[in-house]
Amino acid sequence: MENTINFGIDLGTTNSAIAKFIKGEVVVFTNPQDFGRSTLPSVVSFRKDKIMIGNKAKEFLEKDPKSVVGAFKRKMGTAESFKIKALNETKTPVDLSALVLKELKTFVNTGDSLESVVITIPASFDTIQSNATKEAGAQAGFKQVILLQEPIAASLAYANMKKKMDMKEGLWLVYDLGGGTFDVALVEIKNGEMKVIDHEGNNFLGGVDFDRMIVEKLLIPKIEEEYSFSSLESDMKSASGKYNAKYYVLLRRAEEAKILLSAKSSADIVIDGFEDERGNDVDFEVTITRSEFNDLIKSAIDSTTDMIKKILTNKSLKSTDIQFTLMVGGSTYIPYVRQHVQEVLQIPTNCEIDPTTAIAIGAAYYAATKPKEFNNVVQARKENAISIKPAYQKASKEKEELFAARISGNVEGLFYRITREDGGFDTGLKKLSERINEDLPLVEDAFNFFKLTVYDELNNIVETNMDLIGINSGFAISGQPIPEDICLEVDDGDNPGQTRLLLVFQKNSVLPLKRSITFPLNKTLSKESSDQVIRINILEGPHLSPPEANKGIGYMEISGDKLKKDVSKGSDIEITITMTESRDLSVSAYLNMADQEFKEIFNPKKRHTSIEYLKEQVVDLSEKLDEEIEHATEKEDYEIAGALTKLKKEMEQVEDETETLALDDESDNRYKLEDRKRKIAQEISAATQNKRVQLAKEHYFEIKEECEKMIDENGNDYERQVFNGIVEKEEIFLTTNSPLKIQEKADELDGIIRQIQWRIPEFLVDIFSWLKRDSAKMNDQNVVKYLIEIGESAIENQQWDRLKDVNYSLFDQLPRTSREQLNTRIGFGS
Ligand code: ADP
Ligand code: MG
Repeated sequence: MENTINFGIDLGTTNSAIAKFIKGEVVVFTNPQDFGRSTLPSVVSFRKDKIMIGNKAKEFLEKDPKSVVGAFKRKMGTAESFKIKALNETKTPVDLSALVLKELKTFVNTGDSLESVVITIPASFDTIQSNATKEAGAQAGFKQVILLQEPIAASLAYANMKKKMDMKEGLWLVYDLGGGTFDVALVEIKNGEMKVIDHEGNNFLGGVDFDRMIVEKLLIPKIEEEYSFSSLESDMKSASGKYNAKYYVLLRRAEEAKILLSAKSSADIVIDGFEDERGNDVDFEVTITRSEFNDLIKSAIDSTTDMIKKILTNKSLKSTDIQFTLMVGGSTYIPYVRQHVQEVLQIPTNCEIDPTTAIAIGAAYYAATKPKEFNNVVQARKENAISIKPAYQKASKEKEELFAARISGNVEGLFYRITREDGGFDTGLKKLSERINEDLPLVEDAFNFFKLTVYDELNNIVETNMDLIGINSGFAISGQPIPEDICLEVDDGDNPGQTRLLLVFQKNSVLPLKRSITFPLNKTLSKESSDQVIRINILEGPHLSPPEANKGIGYMEISGDKLKKDVSKGSDIEITITMTESRDLSVSAYLNMADQEFKEIFNPKKRHTSIEYLKEQVVDLSEKLDEEIEHATEKEDYEIAGALTKLKKEMEQVEDETETLALDDESDNRYKLEDRKRKIAQEISAATQNKRVQLAKEHYFEIKEECEKMIDENGNDYERQVFNGIVEKEEIFLTTNSPLKIQEKADELDGIIRQIQWRIPEFLVDIFSWLKRDSAKMNDQNVVKYLIEIGESAIENQQWDRLKDVNYSLFDQLPRTSREQLNTRIGFGS
């Protein structure tokens, strides 16, 4: 029984593969059903009595396209499902992925039972997509699924191929252009440790888009030009169209031609089975050339190099700082991609690894460093006279690694010996005792395996529970980074009704992560009331953007009826958020005033995009963009106006495409459009960021002036000290250019102002008369009358502390709505 997971799976949009780490080497398993190919097309077909997966399923696409599904990875994490005609039922992306995973299990011919596995995901997969992938793993019967980001997998495959020989410390890029997704990551190697520093990606860009472009932009126009057809495109694309099935034939031919064009300068496509408008049978023969194809994909490839430029700018790097761009993914076979990327970036491209199996290979290397969780049960059942409990680091950069173990059972007269599998090390026979320890010398940059054997006095082997001791001295991963900021949506104290984002984890922070955040509640909850609810939203996306530009990934609701005690506005709520290496998100909340913790009521969200809602949002966003442009122009902010006007073109395209989207569209267009819409919203926010920073700064300086005046007139030493402490750091937080950060500091100053205010007699008297005026509305008139008497005598005797208490007590007697109104005006509760 092995201790480490060892199995790695690349669950690709177009192709999947499975590999295993066996004593220092990785083997990619081949498909026993398909001429020993090492990849499995991620395509599933259904018939009444059977399910087929892979190439066989792909062939079925032309016969019964409505019972065959591919590219479902693009819809991972959405609430959408695929209608399967042959079954008359629907399958979710998770169901379909689970089928692919199960099929991959049949490739394994080593007799292992697969319970633990590493599955790769694009670096740009968000939390919901990641969780869906794990769900597919569970559905396929895996008990332990660890997720690994694809660029890390590719880097591991490369580093292990190179070993120490040619590996230089420094930076490189991983460029992964597959069938459905594009991912680029900046990777750093330092002290033998590998780290993803930044990444960008597009979940809707890849080879299948090129195939579609060939069909729509080259084949159909050429056919319509040469033969007499007029509505060929709609006859093919509409589900009820005459040639709907033919669309899939064309897509396959287009892919074949595309692959041919990677080797040759032109490709012929032949298709039969059409009738033209005059009723004649027609066979098409169309030739496409490599240069036509290159023109077609140029703007898509440019968008990939733009993302790389963005990373370089972000990190203030020059092309010469990067050693090379490591090419992975089937679409990097395209010669134009290799040349163009090199030419534009002026960074050499590196095509040394097999672009279609690299990810699975890297995943297996990673799996070899991850302990299995489901071993223990099995081990416990095995009863040996001698049981060994080992302790050692599974990955090490040292020349030697300490191995220690506790032995239980009768050790009298027994011996042990540790040998390294390559024969380079041997402890010789040593007396066994209850505790042993040895320094094990490691071969650098390799997986080291040692064997511990126990012998009796006659040199017979005594059975124990020990497996091989495996220590990786190769490239260690310093952890997986999160692809986007994770934020909490909280009420904006200054703009009632609006929310803002609080940064919880910053993009590129390394998993696992945990953080607690405390903030005051924005409403009062009385126990037993089920309609008073606190809702905590967790969002993913830039924390400086407005909440609507980001994705909701889950929420938690606490309703009054779950409370043991009432909690009031302004009392503390502590939210604790954790994210595991495999992106499991958990959120708990602790309500200070009720001394109550809420756990396990967190609901992860599926992505759900109704087309109607999307249409509305796009229209709103477009209006907002127009307003911002107008506003910037009025203010003669030409730089902002210019940046916004540039977005206008993209906005118009998205608007047009959304408008023509049918309400029952089944393609992945809605998600593509939603992504584009979200990106535009983020860019609008970035472009107008300056404006918001400016406003926040102005607001800060106003408050600062007011606060200083207040302290001069009525403040104490402590308040002056706090004030000075904030102002001293002014230079730092004003240059962060984060409106939130600046706002936070303005809020702190505001807190000082309020504190002082509550000591000023005039202020207290004002509030008192204000409350007195409202006293008719108050709850318990007897109490109110009594309080007013005390208040009046306090004023007479100048007992200001007492007046303050009276004010608070009167405030509590107000009905809830008036309390809230007053609170926003003067800030009770502080
Ligand atoms: P994924 O990671 O999305 O599963 P792959 O990395 O296996 O995908 O890449 C699959 C894509 O690569 C497909 O769109 C396929 O058409 C394309 N592809 C494979 N070989 C070539 C080639 N020689 N030239 C151009 N494209 C290719
Ligand atoms: Mg891939």
